[in-house]
Amino acid sequence: MTPSVSPSGPTTPAGRTGPARSGPSGGPRRRPRVVIVGAGFAGYQTARHLSRTLRGRAEIVLLNPTDYFLYLPLLPQVTAGVLEARRVTVSLPGTLRQVRLVLGQAERVDLAARTVHYSDPEGGEGELTYDRLVLAVGSVSKLLPIPGVAEHATGFRGLPEALYLRDHITRQIELAGYCGDPAECAARSTFVVVGAGYTGTELAAHGKMFTDALVRKQPGWPRGVKPRWMLLDVADRVLPGLSERLARTADEVLRERGVDVRVKTSVKESTKDGVLLDTGEFVDTRTLIWCVGVRPDPLVSLLDLPTEKGRLVVTPQLGVPGHPEVFACGDAAAVPDLTRPGEFTPMTAQHASRQGKVAARNVAASLGLGTPVAYRHNDLGFAVDLGGVKAAANPMGVPLSGPVAGAVTRGYHLAAMPGNRVRVAADWLLDAALPRQAVQLGLLRSWQVPLDTASPELVHTPGAPGTSGTHENSGTSGNTSSGNTSGNTSGNTPGSTSGKE
Ligand SMILES: Cc1cc2nc3c(=O)[nH]c(=O)nc-3n(C[C@H](O)[C@H](O)[C@H](O)COP(=O)(O)OP(=O)(O)OC[C@H]3O[C@@H](n4cnc5c(N)ncnc54)[C@H](O)[C@@H]3O)c2cc1C
Repeated sequence: MTPSVSPSGPTTPAGRTGPARSGPSGGPRRRPRVVIVGAGFAGYQTARHLSRTLRGRAEIVLLNPTDYFLYLPLLPQVTAGVLEARRVTVSLPGTLRQVRLVLGQAERVDLAARTVHYSDPEGGEGELTYDRLVLAVGSVSKLLPIPGVAEHATGFRGLPEALYLRDHITRQIELAGYCGDPAECAARSTFVVVGAGYTGTELAAHGKMFTDALVRKQPGWPRGVKPRWMLLDVADRVLPGLSERLARTADEVLRERGVDVRVKTSVKESTKDGVLLDTGEFVDTRTLIWCVGVRPDPLVSLLDLPTEKGRLVVTPQLGVPGHPEVFACGDAAAVPDLTRPGEFTPMTAQHASRQGKVAARNVAASLGLGTPVAYRHNDLGFAVDLGGVKAAANPMGVPLSGPVAGAVTRGYHLAAMPGNRVRVAADWLLDAALPRQAVQLGLLRSWQVPLDTASPELVHTPGAPGTSGTHENSGTSGNTSSGNTSGNTSGNTPGSTSGKE
């Protein structure tokens, strides 16, 4: 017999627009509604596994600003022109057939009324009631109170930034190629990446290869001048959170390639002409890429629930204490790490996608199907793609470097992507066989990809819905650069003199 599903615990008004069915007594019975907010690694897996488990016995609604899941680990390859942007996306309606996608961004959650209020991409507003809620809103770029950074730096958390940077980098090389002024040429062909975690390290490694390839195509490029990439970190090595061996391999590749790696170094100030390092050195540049890490999505701080370093406190079963109908997972949640008592799981895709599966199981259990489990996962190692055939990886703790690591890393990404694998593999083959396309489409401007934003997945358009910078009262002001409160990226607006195009 097929078990029936019922919202256990305190019951709620179900979704106001949800379909109704006949109950055993013949009266109308609505299917319980599960609302999942966010379709990243955690939310996508929650939706996928929940739809397989529940098989239509509950309505699953996925609220996300875009109609795609974004495979973030391959984003540096979009900027470096290895992969086209759509390759790293996976269609939500195309792959989650039993799930209703609602395009929008949650602005507020009313835990007492069990409703999520959202804004849609065309300025409309909506409300979703829920029986179960899964919060999987991920994270946004971390800001530090460093003068000029919010105005002049570009983050690296979404597709708009990756595409903007691909064009911007290409344009800088093209402008440097004919400007005639050696100082300007040097500034335009200098790229500063702050933060040598996996994002910054991959970006610098790929970026150097990309710009070296671009200058080979520039007629009249000044002899002997090479694009300069700087990678800065306050830590004493690259990949500070990862194993020392991995860091050594990455460091060797970066230096061999000509990346200027500066450890124990940070930025003191950023201006339109360059960056002042805390060593006192001023670096002329038109490009500052901010990869210092992430902070939980500002929606979390609006919930008025206990947090740990900004992440929503949850039980090992991913439930929000005091709210048996609410679950959270991924970067936005402080999930106890049962393999390292007293700590929380790191913000990685590996954890987020596995937590999504556990959230699905526990939501189903809360509806009467199966039993809940605690989240426990031992890290399987890490893979850092360094461009070309190079990578640093330690699958299951086995340290790898060179082409073997490169093959393992790419194999890992293909296996981890929930779709679009053939297209990604095809782009890799094309990239190995053909020169990279040196074309900038120029569709995005710097003010459309502000660093201080709650929506890095959206192109910022002043006054447009869903891109207001931050959720109302997002509370990011304490994190922003001096005097720059939430949403106010004053240098990053049209007509500003930020120095970026
Ligand atoms: C460039 C880059 C490279 C990375 N490389 C690796 C790697 O190699 N290995 C690794 O393990 N990790 C990597 N990470 C980290 C990893 O991507 C994150 O830990 C992971 O994405 C977290 O998953 P998540 O589901 O919590 O959040 P996300 O994947 O960020 O998904 C959050 C989703 O919620 C949506 N959302 C946000 N706010 C709202 C709202 N208010 N309403 C509705 N929807 C909302 C977003 O649009 C998004 O779809 C990388 C991160 C970056 C930025």
